[in-house]
Amino acid sequence: MTFPPANAPAKPLSGPQKALHKLGLVRDIDLALHLPLRYEDETRITRLRDARDGETVQIEGVVAACEVKLAGHRQLLVTLDDGSDTCTLRFFSFYPSQQKALAVGNRIRARGEIRGGFLGRQMMHPAFQAAGGDLPTTLTPIYPTAAALPQAYLRRAVQGGLARAELADTIAPENLDEIGLQPSWNLHASLSFLHHPAPDVSLAMLADHSHPAWQRLKAEELLAQQLSQLQAKRARARLRAPALRPGTGNLNHGLRAALPFALTAAQHRVCMEITHDLARPIPMHRLLQGDVGSGKTVVAALAAAICIDAGWQCALMAPTEILAEQHFRKLISWLEPLGIKTAWLTGSQKTKERREMLALIASGEAGLVVGTHAVIQDKVQFKNLALAIIDEQHRFGVAQRLALRSKLTPDTVRAELPVLSAVEGVEAVGSPSTGSGRTAMVEPHLLMMTATPIPRTLAMSYYADLDVSTIDELPPGRTPVVTKLVNDARRDEVIARIRVQLNEGRQIYWVCPLIEESEALDLRNATETHAHLSAALQGVRVGLLHSRMPVAEKKAVMALFTSGQMAVLVSTTVIEVGVDVPNASLMVIEHAERFGLSQLHQLRGRVGRGAAASACVLLYSTGDAARLGETARARLKAMAETHDGFEIARRDLETRGPGEFLGARQSGAALLRFADLATDTALLAWARRLAPLMLDQHPVQAEKHVQRWLGVKADYLKA
Ligand code: ADP
Ligand code: MG
Repeated sequence: MTFPPANAPAKPLSGPQKALHKLGLVRDIDLALHLPLRYEDETRITRLRDARDGETVQIEGVVAACEVKLAGHRQLLVTLDDGSDTCTLRFFSFYPSQQKALAVGNRIRARGEIRGGFLGRQMMHPAFQAAGGDLPTTLTPIYPTAAALPQAYLRRAVQGGLARAELADTIAPENLDEIGLQPSWNLHASLSFLHHPAPDVSLAMLADHSHPAWQRLKAEELLAQQLSQLQAKRARARLRAPALRPGTGNLNHGLRAALPFALTAAQHRVCMEITHDLARPIPMHRLLQGDVGSGKTVVAALAAAICIDAGWQCALMAPTEILAEQHFRKLISWLEPLGIKTAWLTGSQKTKERREMLALIASGEAGLVVGTHAVIQDKVQFKNLALAIIDEQHRFGVAQRLALRSKLTPDTVRAELPVLSAVEGVEAVGSPSTGSGRTAMVEPHLLMMTATPIPRTLAMSYYADLDVSTIDELPPGRTPVVTKLVNDARRDEVIARIRVQLNEGRQIYWVCPLIEESEALDLRNATETHAHLSAALQGVRVGLLHSRMPVAEKKAVMALFTSGQMAVLVSTTVIEVGVDVPNASLMVIEHAERFGLSQLHQLRGRVGRGAAASACVLLYSTGDAARLGETARARLKAMAETHDGFEIARRDLETRGPGEFLGARQSGAALLRFADLATDTALLAWARRLAPLMLDQHPVQAEKHVQRWLGVKADYLKA
């Protein structure tokens, strides 16, 4: 059978072909880069007499008996004799055709695990085929596959892709010295080897990816990543943005003066970094990271002040309505006294109010626009958006970030452009007034904020295209949060502790886990806890907040808690991000073992925001079958041991892998297939050094390399 080229045109795809596409195996090179999960050794025939119990072997012999046993489980029993001994092959399900192939007198090869057994040697459901033909000389690859994609089909497809793909090296041999890679392990040799390794290879080196062929592929992959990031960075440098210099209104200084506190040194530093970026006529692309409670909001407000002062609009987008509203209130209280008009946009807004807001935004009267995803809807037209701030950026997908960036269209800023292009040092890339309709020419500055710090290795790789500002200290006067692990069986003691806190006038959060598969279960969990606490704490106002409540109700509950009228708030994870209630001093997290590490850290960050001593109780359940798994244990231990968001992030990366940090779940793109950022740091550093050199000196090779490795994904990664 001939395999159709994977990139053949427009014929309807067969089932397996569709499955190939789903796996991203579209081009020949994609197939060639689809590496085996493991291998089977079919190169040798083992004599039955030499096969050890438990060993997986290939045997060859003549069928001496073949019968269907009807008593008990219906099964096919085949006796195979290879001259040294016999073995029973046992099949619990089988087709008549298989039974025929195993008829007495036939010579067959079978592969499976040998069991010693009381009744002699056995193999359960071995793979088998008629004997004859040469034995393969290399190990047989087993590929990661999907439903509707048989291994044999995939194997042929990969084999075809590997044969057809253009695999000439893009990395010059001298560049490999540094990482100790022999030039003989070039891309072609490495791939051929990994698809069909010689039988004497160290399987351990293949499994742990330390084999030179693996090293080569990991190096190639990381280089592709670095190159694409660098290309994006350079492309961005050719874009234009309004240069925002402090204007006559002196809003930034006015705001600083009006704040009830002094900035921390770290806040001051990141403000300088942002101010510097904003003054440049190229779009800022900066991530502001700082632990929960480190005071990112005021930094955002100061950046907004510069922007508005310069005569432009600023938008701030938050992932949830509660958070957006909280920002809104805070920013209003800071900015409106300075004469800045603010607009507010959310999904749940009344039509009339929304219309008013849209008018304020379109006319430019609103200097600052705060909201949820509603901010990026088509209907929202800014007069002159120059700064977009995204809070908790990891909650947004790439598409949403792109949408926000495209809100500054040449149309709206055409009048200002001559000024921009006249700025020294900015390379002209064609005039937007030629009407090409390219929205990419001018973009707003982008400031992304996150409390889930990105470990350094990650920042170095994926975010090579991103400038990072870090707030690495908390405002003074915070008392560290004491974290305790408490067995769920001791819940009553926790409730006693709540009473003590309540008597001191404090407020308490009680968080129940979100059970992703079932909102109903979720709700039951939270409502039960709510009922239990209400009963146990007579005379205390205990509120309930869960994901299914209408937004208005959520807000009402949150308002009661924020104003101190409600003492205890039982909630699913909606309070996870950003909520700021300084009087709350105790955080109880039920079923803490079900939460991810950075989630736990975020939740804990809700307390310890005021001067009062605060605590976080992690209730875990070890009841019945739910014995605490090893990773859950490691997470809880990490929480008890450290408060440092960066350390938490590092440990999280260890246990979870980078996907979560990168929002890969939202984008659906698995980003690194072969390299492991936690362990391949030397290769990463190498790729980081080589990328700019290659881009300058061998741009054609560089582009070829990126296309080969990332193909269509390349553009996506740059977003
Ligand atoms: P996060 O970084 O988690 O978003 P916030 O911006 O919500 O943190 O700030 C947490 C709290 O600390 C807020 O109440 C804020 O007003 C306060 N805050 C911010 N900066 C300072 C500072 N320099 N000194 C004292 N309090 C501050
Ligand atoms: Mg925040």
